Amino acid sequence: MVCPVCGGDDCRVVDTRASGDGIRRRRVCQDCEHRFTTFERIELRLPLVVKSDGKREPFLRDKVLMGLSLACRKRPVAAEAIEQAAVRVEQAVMTAGAEISSEDIGRRVLDELKTLDKVAFVRFASVYLDVQSPIEFLDLIAPLVEPASVEPTSGEPSTGEGA
Ligand SMILES: [Zn+2]
Repeated sequence: MVCPVCGGDDCRVVDTRASGDGIRRRRVCQDCEHRFTTFERIELRLPLVVKSDGKREPFLRDKVLMGLSLACRKRPVAAEAIEQAAVRVEQAVMTAGAEISSEDIGRRVLDELKTLDKVAFVRFASVYLDVQSPIEFLDLIAPLVEPASVEPTSGEPSTGEGA
């Protein structure tokens, strides 16, 4: 454990206690006598997120939640639905193995947004997918425009009028 003040690596544990879903330890740096507390979560072994530059960082559900919330800002999406989407993404991440790419997480977030709110989806996608041109943007939203409302043109007899 490295001291956050002086960077010395000789820190003594002076107190250990279980706290919530983890362990809290009081530590004292032997070099500068700085006292600090560390918290270790024990129940979850979340994979590391591999970013596009190759750096690894711990997975944080709050980041996913923030991304979802920002995308859904001022959209008619319930906070609860956003929360549930974040939980689903977290569950997918937890079963992904030791590492998961940030790209993979982004795609899962996109999948959630696609069903939550199409405007939110486009917002997130335009940032996440780094859309550079209007053409790319059209490519992105084209699959969202449902062709279902188009009237049938050929002479297919319509069925199912009911008994
Ligand atoms: Zn120190």
